[in-house]
Amino acid sequence: MRYAGIIKNDLAAAPGVSLTFFTQGCSRHCPGCHNPQTWDFCGGKEFTQDVLDSIIENLYANGIKRTFCVMGGEPLENENLFLTDLVISNVKQALPDVEIYLWTGYTYETLQRRFNEPRLKSILDKINVLVDGEYKEELRDITKPMIGSINQRILTLNK
Ligand code: SF4
Repeated sequence: MRYAGIIKNDLAAAPGVSLTFFTQGCSRHCPGCHNPQTWDFCGGKEFTQDVLDSIIENLYANGIKRTFCVMGGEPLENENLFLTDLVISNVKQALPDVEIYLWTGYTYETLQRRFNEPRLKSILDKINVLVDGEYKEELRDITKPMIGSINQRILTLNK
């Protein structure tokens, strides 16, 4: 299993401080993508138990409660579903109060048609906020928090 990287103290992804996990692999190749190094499913780094332990240990490190942010790459691409579910399920089990935000190029309506996929449903049942829709360079707007283009939406799934 491959992942692209982790930012342990991310002040840009979501309100407050976040720990951000980047999945590896994305077949969309949106023009203007800021993370083209995450496109190759064989790129990035090997995911290990130590990486998972480090995520859980660092979410509340130094008494700071962080939001857990998951982005890519494409966390909900078929190749990444197993790892995305594994990481989110373990975080939720160890730290039930942690808020989880996930960014995806799929729209929520498209994902609803895939609810029969157990791993996808497991993920969507656990995340609090979904930022959906693919990045569109012609709709780019850097003034809005958490999105890159104005077609993208910030949806609260679970409170
Ligand atoms: S979905 Fe995200 S990671 Fe993939 S190409 Fe588009 S902007 Fe880049």
